[in-house]
Amino acid sequence: MNLFETVKASVSVPDAAKMYGLQPNRHGMVRCPFHDDRHPSLKLNEDYYYCFGCGAAGDVIDLTARLFSLRPYEAAKKLAADFGIDPDKPPSAAALAKPKHPMIRAFREDERYCQRVLCDYLHLLEDWKVRYAPTSMDGDYDDRFVEACQMLDYVEYLADILTVGTLEQRAATVKDLMKDGMIGGLDENERIAG
Ligand SMILES: [Zn+2]
Repeated sequence: MNLFETVKASVSVPDAAKMYGLQPNRHGMVRCPFHDDRHPSLKLNEDYYYCFGCGAAGDVIDLTARLFSLRPYEAAKKLAADFGIDPDKPPSAAALAKPKHPMIRAFREDERYCQRVLCDYLHLLEDWKVRYAPTSMDGDYDDRFVEACQMLDYVEYLADILTVGTLEQRAATVKDLMKDGMIGGLDENERIAG
């Protein structure tokens, strides 16, 4: 087993969350640290977490990486150290928990925004695909149905990258989405419909 597998096998998401100051209620929900969350909307499962508010999701390493703005490998090392998994060569937690870099923080904000918009848009498209499906064979398709058919796979793909991609992949995707104004357009799309 490599470090990632060892850590994931040893530390549950709720354990890590509690270690790092999140306090799950009896339903295993916490107030999401990744968006402005008034009521607990982040669910801590044993192997993964998911936020119903902003769509943030990932495993125990991803959670730690986000909380401390670490790379996944650094997050795995921090978990190993904090939970005493590799007592032979534990990196000091203080050394790993460096102050957050402003650029990284800006990226995180952009990333969360992109995740939220993509998630909303995805749900909208899923709804449109069913709600505006053609009822006759005359080929008179509703624009919204056409858009859903054209965009669903692509938006799903983007959302997947932001959820499970490497930091580099996520950074590139967020940069593209922010750059050409695509994400703003989608956001507007969502507001009109909502
Ligand atoms: Zn959230």
